[in-house]
Amino acid sequence: MGMIFDIQRFCMDDGPGIRTVVFMKGCPLDCVWCHNPESKSIKSQTYLDGSKTIGYESTVDQIMQVVLRDRDYYENSGGGLTLSGGEPMFQSAFSYEVLQAAKQSEIHTCMETCGYASQEAFEKILPVTDLFLFDLKAPYSTHKKLIGTDNALILSNLAFLHDSGADIILRCPIVPGLNDTDEHFNFISDVLHRAPRILDVQLMPYHNMGAVKAERLGMPYDAPNENATKVQTLSWERQLTALLSGRQK
Ligand code: SF4
Repeated sequence: MGMIFDIQRFCMDDGPGIRTVVFMKGCPLDCVWCHNPESKSIKSQTYLDGSKTIGYESTVDQIMQVVLRDRDYYENSGGGLTLSGGEPMFQSAFSYEVLQAAKQSEIHTCMETCGYASQEAFEKILPVTDLFLFDLKAPYSTHKKLIGTDNALILSNLAFLHDSGADIILRCPIVPGLNDTDEHFNFISDVLHRAPRILDVQLMPYHNMGAVKAERLGMPYDAPNENATKVQTLSWERQLTALLSGRQK
């Protein structure tokens, strides 16, 4: 059994092709701007007004029954299953079982991860994960303040996956006034230089929808009210695309 809070079909933004995304409960980090505050706790939670409970137990078979409905769409689009959250590695044994079941059904597997788990856990999950969408959220100097921990374990897991031959796409949130800095941009560039097998980098402009969800749950939320601007995102995207195409592999 695992704790999940949603399964969404026909997703286009969480890995290649058309995908079914399983959102898992529980996260070891504490990002100031968390876009899914309802996912942080491993336990189920209910909105203050009682209108909705978030989080329920599910078996691998129950998840796979939903995932397998769209096999034809995966085959025609190059899609598959994505585990998201929360942090799928927070329930790494259950995530392994789900990904393994998908692989046994010849479905492409992808995991969005913040990278914060033991190396042994990543070592185990690697053979059943075709693609990692790996978060880089903040540079060294502000990581602890913005994310709740330093980034040593995260970077060491990124290096481990990279050196083990994993397919990796970086995902970097851009949050106005918090990590939209030259230091963050240079940090991302630096990682791309040091890890030449990384396939791509995707910038994730901040939106403040997490604030509404946090309020409904009575959770504190102290992120900006403004969304990230398209101008800055496009500027970073252009520079990073140039950097990616100029790397020696
Ligand atoms: S890693 Fe994701 S789920 Fe966890 S606190 Fe950060 S934004 Fe929220």
